[in-house]
Amino acid sequence: MQSELAFIDDLRARAAGAARQNAELRHGIGDDAAVLRAAANSETLITVDLLIEDVDFRLEYTPPRWLGHKALAVSLSDIAAMGGRPQFSLLSLGIPRSCGTAFWEEFFDGYFALAGEHGVTLIGGDTSSAPGGLAIDSIQLGECRRGAAVLRSGAKAGDEIYITGSIGASAAGLRLLLAGKRVSGGNGDDDLTQQALRKHLRPEPRVEFGWRIGEEQLAHSMIDVSDGLARDLAHICAESGVSAEIDASSVPISPEVSLVETDAEKAFELAVRGGEDFELLFTATGAKAKELVKIAGETGVVVTRIGEVIERSDSALRLRRDGKSIPFASRGFDHFTG
Ligand code: ADP
Ligand code: MG
Repeated sequence: MQSELAFIDDLRARAAGAARQNAELRHGIGDDAAVLRAAANSETLITVDLLIEDVDFRLEYTPPRWLGHKALAVSLSDIAAMGGRPQFSLLSLGIPRSCGTAFWEEFFDGYFALAGEHGVTLIGGDTSSAPGGLAIDSIQLGECRRGAAVLRSGAKAGDEIYITGSIGASAAGLRLLLAGKRVSGGNGDDDLTQQALRKHLRPEPRVEFGWRIGEEQLAHSMIDVSDGLARDLAHICAESGVSAEIDASSVPISPEVSLVETDAEKAFELAVRGGEDFELLFTATGAKAKELVKIAGETGVVVTRIGEVIERSDSALRLRRDGKSIPFASRGFDHFTG
């Protein structure tokens, strides 16, 4: 491993191109703090994600390039879920001996590729050694028009509930990894198993879609699906003081789920409770449906209506299936209980 100074110099050089082009950045990496110039009439969004080795990821089966991608992707997803545009990133790293120069080259190839795609500039961070495993703290700044942030608390009774993409592929990918499946570099890369692993290890955040939804004020509430659809929808309900009814047959379940669950009921459960899909879940008035479809088309995202917000102060979820409405547990993924 190179020295800390050389490591930071490398990062500074890699971040320099984007930094020069960014009018809102007065000073990035290289001083005691970065200096930003806020645009008039905008608000700043800030979010942070902590990734701990063997809790949030395993080096054993994660290509370093994809880990660099994911460290940024999870934070971009949070900014998208607020209806904002991502701008600046900071990365704090606790580095164990096991991660050498080659590892970081690849990690930052993945990180900077995604950053470049979305106009994100690395403006700082901190670097230390870690006696245990690798720790990555990813901080993301973004912006939205004043008052335009889409909160979890804005859902209204009568809203339609929508989700982007499909759910369950990431949970299926994780199961396959835990069962010993590995990312292959060779032929057959496009098969469903490899796709599932990729969805888990290298998720694509809905950056442009989220930002457009915010810009055009099309949603009353929004969240990204990190703990599972059931649990994240329950977060919206709790914050908004409403309830929600999901149409079981409308939920878009990823084809990858069939690799690990053939029983339809079990497949549904995995899809709605498995986490880390990083799709956007939002509520909007039906009157905006046409505009939503237009933005989805322009940003290359599929949007599916999966239910409706209903008036109930207990914030409990319901599931509509075969014409009947039954209570639906909001259980999902929990870091403390597993
Ligand atoms: P300080 O002693 O003030 O914390 P450092 O020597 O840790 O300064 O950092 C020097 C510069 O390098 C700062 O601009 C800091 O933000 C940046 N930096 C350090 N580590 C990272 C990192 N992992 N990613 C991006 N920038 C970093
Ligand atoms: Mg420091």
